[in-house]
Amino acid sequence: MDVKKDQKVVVLATGGTIAGIAGDVSKPNNYVSGQLAVSQLTQDLVSNGAQLIQEQVCNIDSKDMQFAHWQALLARCHFWLNENEVAGLIVTHGTDTLEETAFFLQAVLNPAKPVAMTCAMFPANVPQSDGPQNLQGALDWVLNTLDTGVYLVTAGEVHFGIGVQKNYSDRSRAFASREAMTQGKQASVPKLDWPMPTVEQVLKIQFWPRVELIFNHAGADGQLVRNLLQAHDPAKSDSQPSSNSNQTSMVEGIVVAGTGSGTLSHDLEFALTQAQKAGLWVARTSRCAYGVSDPDKHPNIPSLHNLSPVQGRVAMILGLLAHSET
Ligand code: ASP
Repeated sequence: MDVKKDQKVVVLATGGTIAGIAGDVSKPNNYVSGQLAVSQLTQDLVSNGAQLIQEQVCNIDSKDMQFAHWQALLARCHFWLNENEVAGLIVTHGTDTLEETAFFLQAVLNPAKPVAMTCAMFPANVPQSDGPQNLQGALDWVLNTLDTGVYLVTAGEVHFGIGVQKNYSDRSRAFASREAMTQGKQASVPKLDWPMPTVEQVLKIQFWPRVELIFNHAGADGQLVRNLLQAHDPAKSDSQPSSNSNQTSMVEGIVVAGTGSGTLSHDLEFALTQAQKAGLWVARTSRCAYGVSDPDKHPNIPSLHNLSPVQGRVAMILGLLAHSET
């Protein structure tokens, strides 16, 4: 069933292993990401009558993803989603930070069309290359699904973007999510604790709020939080962007990956409470792969429920952005 066969599908490429090349095909783990252009990725795609449009947004290893890349990608997604004849989008992306970009796009765009992110664990020129199959899977899904929103289509699976995690670093089936989605099953966006900024607000940001991610662990005594607090004091640090990441050097929030159900050592809880008093946003997640931070465990430190630590951090960055506009 190709319900949208006369429509357009836009492929937005950002790099990653799916566009990577190994110097020696017998060593598939030794490669450089982001070497092939989008036109090379799509040349063997079977489009079943749909018209493909392709754009190169960037061509990087996603470990180097920066906020400026997100803004460029957001702008192109927003533009194409508003074109009537576009049925949906495909975003090719490195696997390493894909879940953060997926959260960002879902939360800000809340798309009314399907957006399939896809990727690869093996570079394009080795025998076990999984990119072409994943890209074809993403196109087939966009052309056939009735779902809307940001999904990851990879290794024959479809995952909702919020809740997906890269759990393996050495196999093509690298991702898992709390509730694996199957095609045709409607997903719902988890309720977030704060409003999200609009596309327009995100596109005009110059300096992104700094949110740091820390862990509870054996021996956690809160010293790292006290060090971060130093970086929150406007008298001791400036709000100029640090390096080329477009983030303020002043820390505005802390997401903590708590143990188990989002629990904290006594000393870490005390330090985080001091951080709240100093004006930082603080929220809890769980460091377990499928953990949930229990709102009742440390009721004074908000829970981000079933968001992973890295997706929780993006949620807080976006929440701070929305808050700064009000
Ligand atoms: N380092 C690569 C990236 O995230 C890994 C991958 O794509 O699988 O760009």
